[in-house]
Amino acid sequence: TAPIHVVGAGLAGSEAAWQIAQAGIPVVLHEMRPVRRTDAHQTDRCAELVCSNSFRSDDAEYNAVGLLHEEMRRCGSLILTTGDAHKVPAGGALAVDRDGFADAVTAALEAHPLVRIERGELTGLPPSDWDSVVLATGPLTSPDLARAILDLTGEAQLSFFDAIAPIVYFESIDLSKAWFQSRYDKEGPGGTGKDYINCAMDKEQYLAFIQALLEAPKTEFKDWEKGTPYFEGCLPIEVMAERGVDTLRYGPMKPVGLTNPHTGRRPYAVVQLRQDNALGTLYNLVGFQTKLKYAEQTRVFRMIPGLETAEFARLGGMHRNTFLNSPRLLDPVLRLKAMPRLRFAGQITGCEGYVESAAVGLLAGRFAAAERLGRTPSVPPATTALGALLNHITGGAEAETFQPMNVNFGLFPPLDARQPNGKELHGKDRKRAYTGRALADLDGWLGRDPAAAA
Ligand code: FAD
Repeated sequence: TAPIHVVGAGLAGSEAAWQIAQAGIPVVLHEMRPVRRTDAHQTDRCAELVCSNSFRSDDAEYNAVGLLHEEMRRCGSLILTTGDAHKVPAGGALAVDRDGFADAVTAALEAHPLVRIERGELTGLPPSDWDSVVLATGPLTSPDLARAILDLTGEAQLSFFDAIAPIVYFESIDLSKAWFQSRYDKEGPGGTGKDYINCAMDKEQYLAFIQALLEAPKTEFKDWEKGTPYFEGCLPIEVMAERGVDTLRYGPMKPVGLTNPHTGRRPYAVVQLRQDNALGTLYNLVGFQTKLKYAEQTRVFRMIPGLETAEFARLGGMHRNTFLNSPRLLDPVLRLKAMPRLRFAGQITGCEGYVESAAVGLLAGRFAAAERLGRTPSVPPATTALGALLNHITGGAEAETFQPMNVNFGLFPPLDARQPNGKELHGKDRKRAYTGRALADLDGWLGRDPAAAA
């Protein structure tokens, strides 16, 4: 059998290569380190953790990333089983001894009879005789390869910086204060004139909010992140606030074209939230990319009227990050629509985090293997963490505003489960209903999955 080529031996590429080899297919894993370095990696090891040593919560009953851990274990994940074997104490989180972990992933791949690791940079599109390729070159994809991908997909479809505005769960927005309305009631394509959720501020609230933005501690850019292109066009809100007290009122918080139906008045300033996923369970704060520290974001953004009890599916941030507009470019099994022999995996697909990157690598590997075996790849149900994440990046997210995303319960199709008394499930009960449904559906899928049976 001709080998499948995996490019990048990070979290995603290592997992993809393992899944392919475990399905009985030879794989060549291409890694540019140590021939060429990135700005963040320190070693030549596979699956090096570039920053924290944590895979976050390991609670599969009440937490979406903990659920993803468990699903990956059930799929025979190399990253998760190696993580378990090199665990260090970290409360409810799965944290690992980073050197022991990366050494063991590297050793497992080197020892696998169907895996060959080749060191060297891919500087352009893969040669045409590589008929099945998984590109998993990560947020720090080397510039020459990034340029080749950009030439293929178009400038607007590949980003070099993420500019993440916080995202809140729809159900946690207080609609007795906020309201649905588009500016001037304008209808977008298929719109109703009510596409946005608006949170109004009076003058006093606005001034207090600006003051809080100015005073809150921020995280700094790393030296190598400074000077990355496309930054000026997308300023953090606290930087806009520093430029003048009214800058935000003339920018993302402008109050024009909106009337607060709760008071009948035109607001002094407005925060707008835009639907972030097709399910309508997530809303992002428009134009609110920020470098405020996480705890400060929660405190400061809960000053916004209507968001006092908001729960955040993700907080804002800005980092160097190469990622595709996947909802537009990729098909449901992670292939580039414009060149289906290329499949993408990991953070470059617009998922966010070590575990999510490895999870998308796991799926890409299984899909590529199934295809090589002449079978139709089967996608995991959208009710599973794997399926919800896959669905988000391959079509569930809005392509216009696509930004990297961690796994979270807002990506799952809503539950229809109710308690015996007919009331809706809330809090912990609700989370447990999501995770129970996910694991049952995952087991069903694994029973059917052609790659699993191989
Ligand atoms: P990577 O793990 O980066 O793997 C990509 C691999 O491809 C690398 O080994 C690279 O050398 C190789 N490569 C690149 N270009 C080429 C080429 N042209 N030819 C051959 N090989 C190539 N996530 C967290 O969960 N927690 C954190 O603390 C965290 N901190 C981060 C800190 C930084 C500075 C960055 C940039 C990201 C961080 N992330 C973090 C996000 C993300 O989870 C990690 O970047 C993760 O490693 C992504 O996995 P990946 O497999 O997609 O990419």
